[in-house]
Amino acid sequence: MFQKILIANRGEIALRVLRACKELGIQTVVVHSTADADAMHVRLADESVCIGPPPSRDSYLNIHQIVAACEITGADAVHPGYGFLSENAKFADILAAHNITFIGPSGDHIRVMGDKIEAKRTAKRLGIPVVPGSDGAVTEEREAKRIAAEIGYPVIIKASAGGGGRGMKVARSEADLEVALQTARSEAGAAFGDDAVYIEKYLEKPRHIEVQVFGDGAGRGVHFGERDCSLQRRHQKVWEEAPSPALNAEERAHIGGVCARAIADLGYSGAGTIEFLYENGEFYFIEMNTRLQVEHPVTEAITGIDLVHEQIRVASGGGLSVRQEDIRFQGHAIECRINAEDPRTFTPSPGTITHFHTPGGLGIRVDSGVYSGYKIPPYYDSLIGKLIVHGRNRVECMMRLRRALDEFVVDGIKTTLPLFRDLVGNADIANGEYDIHWLEKYLAEED
Ligand code: ADP
Repeated sequence: MFQKILIANRGEIALRVLRACKELGIQTVVVHSTADADAMHVRLADESVCIGPPPSRDSYLNIHQIVAACEITGADAVHPGYGFLSENAKFADILAAHNITFIGPSGDHIRVMGDKIEAKRTAKRLGIPVVPGSDGAVTEEREAKRIAAEIGYPVIIKASAGGGGRGMKVARSEADLEVALQTARSEAGAAFGDDAVYIEKYLEKPRHIEVQVFGDGAGRGVHFGERDCSLQRRHQKVWEEAPSPALNAEERAHIGGVCARAIADLGYSGAGTIEFLYENGEFYFIEMNTRLQVEHPVTEAITGIDLVHEQIRVASGGGLSVRQEDIRFQGHAIECRINAEDPRTFTPSPGTITHFHTPGGLGIRVDSGVYSGYKIPPYYDSLIGKLIVHGRNRVECMMRLRRALDEFVVDGIKTTLPLFRDLVGNADIANGEYDIHWLEKYLAEED
């Protein structure tokens, strides 16, 4: 087991990882920018190292500073959290070259899954169902037209190097295709420095369903069921739940089994998420995230397993603590992402939190790094906390969520809490009847 883990992140996830380390009796080091000197995880860590000024590129993305912090403090492993360097293959390679363990998969696995065309090819080879589309990058308009005609309109053009929902264009007819191809390529080139694009069938009303997987790096793979993250705004997840209201036990076992086998065949190590669009009973792979996800707590709630403990165990060579048959699903869990944003316009609302009171009671978990008097710096993501509610079934979970939202107080800044108070009373949400476009339509109608 590791003696000392350096946490290369900030906010709620830094605290989340720190808690897991403390439970396992592992010493902690956190790195932080000058803007985060007062953060909760900095106060709670055994050691902290200031690695630079507020902009992420000079601090949380500064690989040399982080490696230096490991060497100064004698950390033997790094947990990257999510975002920042968590899916940076070069970072994983550099740590390995310094004999520091990256708590995550190998640089090679990160690289394969970071290139969307390569990821899709790999998924297909491993028996994971994919969206019908081009076999690789498409450059010629003639070829694009031929493929689109073959799979049928509408189609979506996506950037191979894409991320965060950027660089995607939908074409509803051959007449749209030329412009869509050109815009997607120039946007991809400008945003990612790589103008490779590919074509897929555009699914009209899918749900976003993702499977939590784990590999032990020695040929064993397990799944922890799925999460439904269909409630999104601008491709950003807002509300996540497990299990998905749309799947039955048979579908769950089937897609979970497919994913677990793929992870085993790949020789993958650590946590991963295989993301699908789901429509009319079919799953279509869209991408794999090679890290812990923001929404991992809903899986923890229904399985009772600490996924960060598992990540640390696997990375230290201790293997997984569970076999597939030990993983049981109990009840229902929902997570609301609480952002420091205007609940209508979603413009960021940094500033001082004058009062912060979290709900409690059975089935309630709040993951947050903020406190009364904390000043939210304007430089980073606006997520300030996550409310995770667990109940014996979805109805109980929703009742408890409504009650928890009523108790939650965040004064001094605007937050997305009012949005969740509206959603929890909505009939479609109560019935679990929503697709990936539902929230955007709902917000447009509210205006
Ligand atoms: P990114 O890495 O940029 O997040 P993804 O491939 O994960 O890109 O897609 C992001 C979102 O775009 C999906 O959650 C979905 O809303 C939409 N999307 C992607 N591919 C398709 C498709 N083939 N049909 C319909 N919507 C899609």
